[in-house]
Amino acid sequence: MPANKKLLVLPGDGIGPEVMGEVRRIIDWMDRRRSLSFEIEEGLVGGGAIDAVGSPCPDETVAKARAADAVLFGSVGGPKWDSLPFEQRPELGILRLRKDLGLFANLRPAVVLDPLVEASSLKPDIVRGVDIMVVRETVGGVYFGEPRGVETLPDGKRRGFDTDVYHEDEIARVARVAFDLARKRRNKVTSVEKANVMQSGRLWRAVVGEVHKAEYPDVQLENMYADNCAMQLCSRPKQFDVILGNNLFGDVLSDLAAALTGSLGMLPSATLGAVDPTTGKRHALYEPIHGSAPDIAGKGVANPCAQMLSFAMLLRWSFGLEEDAKLLEAAIEKVLAGGLRTADIMQPGMARVGTSVMGEAVVRELEKLSA
Ligand code: NAD
Repeated sequence: MPANKKLLVLPGDGIGPEVMGEVRRIIDWMDRRRSLSFEIEEGLVGGGAIDAVGSPCPDETVAKARAADAVLFGSVGGPKWDSLPFEQRPELGILRLRKDLGLFANLRPAVVLDPLVEASSLKPDIVRGVDIMVVRETVGGVYFGEPRGVETLPDGKRRGFDTDVYHEDEIARVARVAFDLARKRRNKVTSVEKANVMQSGRLWRAVVGEVHKAEYPDVQLENMYADNCAMQLCSRPKQFDVILGNNLFGDVLSDLAAALTGSLGMLPSATLGAVDPTTGKRHALYEPIHGSAPDIAGKGVANPCAQMLSFAMLLRWSFGLEEDAKLLEAAIEKVLAGGLRTADIMQPGMARVGTSVMGEAVVRELEKLSA
């Protein structure tokens, strides 16, 4: 069968290549058993790319990413490169990809799987069944707005400042991503800002309301102040379906939502660009939310689930393969329900396993579920 899905795989540094290896196992299985044929390229990114060619994101990697239907990213960074100046750091690899591919909407699901309900720091009855998607704007707002800087005043004291700035088109396009997602989920968007104290927040609320009225009147829209949202996430998280926020609030609230699940090694993410009106395609990059975990790299103990779940997101959002995405998610949940745990999610009475045993177990479950 000819390959019909072009995938760029960027394993990166630390545990990146280890957990990506387990995804390759799943891709091989899907090739054989689901007749999904992927054309896979690999590329250099992060510290490994600095060592090999002197740049954390070489032009060749960007070109491959542009040509691909989707990018599956591992993680970058590590102590070896920590002393480099800021503009040469491995972490700039991901920033360049986001910028050059125009990836403006970050999707971070926070799902509390039943077998891991005890891993949360909140009470089981509060988090059981939580299934939230945080949509964060990633290329605008206070992280990029000008003017910004630290200046020294005439009296010798320093003053630091940033600018939270949004164009209405930037708000509208990320709002559409959130509304589209909600339609495929439980049809509710909670848009967060601080319209009570910030001008950019007032505009955010107005534009989200306009997009809703004109294009998505069937979706339930709720506006909420970001501080209230933080509190509600900890007290009544099940009320949320899709949470939409700007770069700053989305950053903070997606970490908070992730903490509800209690396990860094389980959390995937996606970052999407705009849909090209002529091809109907969009650039997209999928990655676990964890970093390169240098403390456990090379030991074969990393949890590969976040990387595998990132691949499930890729199947769903880049290729529309909902059934295959669900199959993979179900296989992972089954393995956990069966009692296997990597060290990061270990619980009393469960069986502690390493990266590859976890990967093999997921493939076995895939086989059983699709029999
Ligand atoms: P980290 O996410 O790498 O690790 C935090 C802790 O969680 C560590 O104890 C680690 O062992 C554990 N952990 C993370 N993923 C795990 C997994 N899959 N299985 C088991 N345990 C896991 O964060 P950090 O230590 O702050 O950062 C390490 C490096 O990663 C830094 O260089 C940082 O800049 C980089 N980083 C990269 C990305 C990215 O590539 N997108 C994201 C975050 C951090």
